[in-house]
Amino acid sequence: MFTTYTLRLIGLLGLYFTNGSQAETTLIKNVTIINEYAELLEQPKNILIIDEIISKIGNFDTQADHIIDGQGKYLIPGLIDSHVHLKGVPGLRVDSVKDQELQRDGAKQIPRSYLYFGFTTVLDLASYSSFVSQWNAQVYAPEALYCTAMSILNGYPIVYSGEAASQLSSPMASYLLYDKNQSDEYPADYPVKEHLPEHLVKKAKKEGAICIKTFYEKGFGVKKNLPVPDLDLIRELKLYASQENMPLFLHANSTDAYQFASQTNVSVLAHGLWHSNGNDIKPLIKDIAHQDISVQLTLTVVEGELDLFDHSFFSSEEAHSAIPSSLINWYKSESGQWFKKILSSNVLNLQNNKQHETMKKKYDHVFQTLRKGVHSLLENNVNLVFGSDTPSGPIYTQFPGLNGFREIQAWARTGVDLKTLFKSLTIRNAELLGVQNRIGAIREGMQADLLLLNENPLVDVQAYNSIQTVFIDGLAIDRESLAAK
Ligand SMILES: [Zn+2]
Repeated sequence: MFTTYTLRLIGLLGLYFTNGSQAETTLIKNVTIINEYAELLEQPKNILIIDEIISKIGNFDTQADHIIDGQGKYLIPGLIDSHVHLKGVPGLRVDSVKDQELQRDGAKQIPRSYLYFGFTTVLDLASYSSFVSQWNAQVYAPEALYCTAMSILNGYPIVYSGEAASQLSSPMASYLLYDKNQSDEYPADYPVKEHLPEHLVKKAKKEGAICIKTFYEKGFGVKKNLPVPDLDLIRELKLYASQENMPLFLHANSTDAYQFASQTNVSVLAHGLWHSNGNDIKPLIKDIAHQDISVQLTLTVVEGELDLFDHSFFSSEEAHSAIPSSLINWYKSESGQWFKKILSSNVLNLQNNKQHETMKKKYDHVFQTLRKGVHSLLENNVNLVFGSDTPSGPIYTQFPGLNGFREIQAWARTGVDLKTLFKSLTIRNAELLGVQNRIGAIREGMQADLLLLNENPLVDVQAYNSIQTVFIDGLAIDRESLAAK
């Protein structure tokens, strides 16, 4: 979309495209703007959008192709979620892809559901250029940006593709970081040089990635005691990523991983802290704060698993707005509940309401650790950036769009104040990704990715569900036209 943006700037000079077609204009009248400092501008303003660009903000009057009355309403930048996974439809079984219809219904609605809940930019933390270009060719879709994911041999998550030999021929293999501590695991003719940080970072940048993601995860479930990268490797990765102005994301959700992060000075921790070694976390969180490492809380990763056992999940209006009814029906069916059985087989013999209660108790400890972590992050003013990890696993409770909205609510419920939340959803993410001159704020010359809200999001978190109009690249879309139902 950078190219159309540049084109548009050229077009702005004469209000005409280079091909001669006339520019499209939209005027939003008398609207209350919330700026990037999460402050209400005192006087309502008029905003003129020419094609994709916010052309003028002030107390002027002018003709326009479309006029939108903003009286009593709030205008905010489109939301940015910097932790999503765009490929696939959550909760569908890999072996049931034969059910093409569900796959199609889901794939068609997913970009719209992101927009429905106000997300106009999403960052896929593990994608590649051809997929993202295809995604961005859709008109009714948030703009997608992506990171290249780099793991080590036998490490998380590439270990899920099988033995070393299968890993080396898997899709992630071309971006495997060479791990000198496992030198005897590689074939004799392995091209080591092509798997050193410098080479991989430059390759990722050239292909169009804007960031790098790597992992510190010793494993869970059936995969435990996995190898993790050493300090030298990730320090080197950070060095080359910085040279290319690419933030380095680290998958980290334990005190071990946070400790590792503080010694490697990565840019972002892609998860909240939910596995504690029992030590006092305050000194650790202070370190994270001092080094300007940003954190994504991803609260719905844990909540979403628990929500699978909540039989009222599909009764909300939001769920029906985000998820096509064909998928809801399948998710509710015996086969749609497959992942629940993997999470907890014994609890399923209990009555419905008992299941939820029992699982709540089982998850209580993780929630307590997570909440403690959030409070410590807030106390130490760690830079929180909004990332929801949509979806973190094959679970329908993290359906795109809906999950972002649930994550927003979870942040507020866990004690993040509404100003911080607003900035995390907009300007802080834009700054992290280096796109703050284009999106994340409402200023003349910026891309018109905007939300017109009926309520004030600095007063009530439910305001994020009061969207009237979504503007993507200057195109005004009535929210209800994006709903699944
Ligand atoms: Zn993720």
